[in-house]
Amino acid sequence: MGKNYDLFVVGAGPAGMTAGMYGVRSGLETVVVEKGISGGLSNEAPEIKNYPGFTSVGGMELAEKMKEQALEYVEIKELEAVEKIETVVKEKEKEKSMVLFTEKGSYVTKAVIMSTGTKHRKLGAKGEAEFLGRGISYCATCDGFFFRDKPVIVVGGGDSAVKEALYLKNIGCEVTLIHRRDKLRAEPYLQKELEKSGVPILWNSVVKEIKGDKAVRSIVRYDKKKRIEDELSVEGVFIAIGEEPVNELAVQIGIKLDKNGYIITDKNQRTNIERVYAAGDITGGVRQIVVACAEGAIAATSAYNDLLELSVK
Ligand code: NAP
Repeated sequence: MGKNYDLFVVGAGPAGMTAGMYGVRSGLETVVVEKGISGGLSNEAPEIKNYPGFTSVGGMELAEKMKEQALEYVEIKELEAVEKIETVVKEKEKEKSMVLFTEKGSYVTKAVIMSTGTKHRKLGAKGEAEFLGRGISYCATCDGFFFRDKPVIVVGGGDSAVKEALYLKNIGCEVTLIHRRDKLRAEPYLQKELEKSGVPILWNSVVKEIKGDKAVRSIVRYDKKKRIEDELSVEGVFIAIGEEPVNELAVQIGIKLDKNGYIITDKNQRTNIERVYAAGDITGGVRQIVVACAEGAIAATSAYNDLLELSVK
């Protein structure tokens, strides 16, 4: 069995990194384990203008600053996926501990914070899987560069889609936004920026198929209002239609979820399972970096309070 911890944080997005930092600062032996690289989806945000203290900052830059600060306190193990969590109750001492199995080993801990975040929702259009990485992307900041001066479409009507469209326009792509309704969901401030940018919008339209040869060449668009189908020449398709919770581990250990699959917590980030907490996008609600950080801090503080109470019992 691997090393013993007081607090084990699953996921190193803004919530997990903050939780790790608060855990160590409150005296808990803490570790943060991340299946990819630190920062989570915030790495993909082209520009963040509403994180307090920064007028404008790139998502990756902010995530790097957070990591740098978190590492002053806590160990972050990257590229190590947690695959299974088991609960062990020592009958004699009536003490519960949890064992987390990763692809690299196992760890024993008294408390766990789930900050597993979300993943990109798939469109489900024909050709989406086939052309992934060959013209289809879920991240404009990662792949936009390859499409400079080329026609691309962005699918979606929320904050992410508008931000991606603005980013792509700014680096010189020939961008069109395609949205399934006649109104955007994005915050008014972003909608105004989009209007100013002159990015055309195809309203009431869905992507039925993505076509190509070695790479994407066109999309088949269906206009739901006019009930017509046409084919548009594009070389890039950026899909930004929201996110889905990464909740496989939560399901495995019986954490209560809401109807959309997000973890239900109380206001102190406690889940229905003793000494298991959740923080960040995995809890749904207002999905903003500042909220994720706050929830991470609260979750670690709750873990500290609960472990303190346990030790004085
Ligand atoms: P979102 O707000 O859920 O928006 C998803 C968009 O995609 C909606 O416009 C939706 O259409 C559309 N959509 C969903 N499923 C679709 C499908 N199958 N086919 C076509 N269109 C589909 O997602 P998001 O923009 O990724 O944002 C997620 C969260 O992160 C939000 O809470 C957002 O505020 C936050 N966020 C904030 C910022 C920021 O700068 N403040 C930036 C990025 C994200 P309908 O409108 O018709 O439902």
